[in-house]
Amino acid sequence: MTSTYQLPDLPYDYSALKPAISPQLLELHHSKHHAAYVKGANEALDKLASAREADEYSEIGRLAKLLAFNVSGHILHSLFWTCMSPNADHTPTGKLQQAIDADFGSFDRLKKQMNASIAQLQGSGWAALVWEPVARRLIVEQVYDHQSNVGQGTDLVVVLDGWEHAYYLDYLNDKAAWTQAFWEVADWKSAGARFDSLTANAPK
Ligand code: MN
Repeated sequence: MTSTYQLPDLPYDYSALKPAISPQLLELHHSKHHAAYVKGANEALDKLASAREADEYSEIGRLAKLLAFNVSGHILHSLFWTCMSPNADHTPTGKLQQAIDADFGSFDRLKKQMNASIAQLQGSGWAALVWEPVARRLIVEQVYDHQSNVGQGTDLVVVLDGWEHAYYLDYLNDKAAWTQAFWEVADWKSAGARFDSLTANAPK
């Protein structure tokens, strides 16, 4: 059994984000749901190694999807935890703020687009603010599950979890209340640092 992927510790304790997220919900989301994607990603690698060893590739499609789903789930959740903080800038500043204004019109319009992306998910998924390096601009992706409906080559800046497990314990079926609560704990300082790092790279 490989342990290539590991569950990261949260950068705050389970009670740090209340009342936006209750301690019980945050602990379940991190220690059960995120942990399951880490386990699934490692198991997918093991199964692919076994398939190569046995020279048996009849299940390759299923295994490739298993790997993509679980690795993407792990990457999204690892970033999601750092997109929130109890005591950060809850509005964008600096170059990220300028880019949001240029590419969306205003911070308020960005939030509305991300909220609508969550509200209109047919099933489980995410809203992701991403850097698109060809046009060198920000866009919002409506991600299905963890890995569908995603353009190739984009880099994540801010991710918002729209799966029912992210809010149902605290907000029942009120997804709009959950997205509103997320913005109240969103960490734009860490997002700004990610954006500065991405945009410092040479054009692809
Ligand atoms: Mn989740």
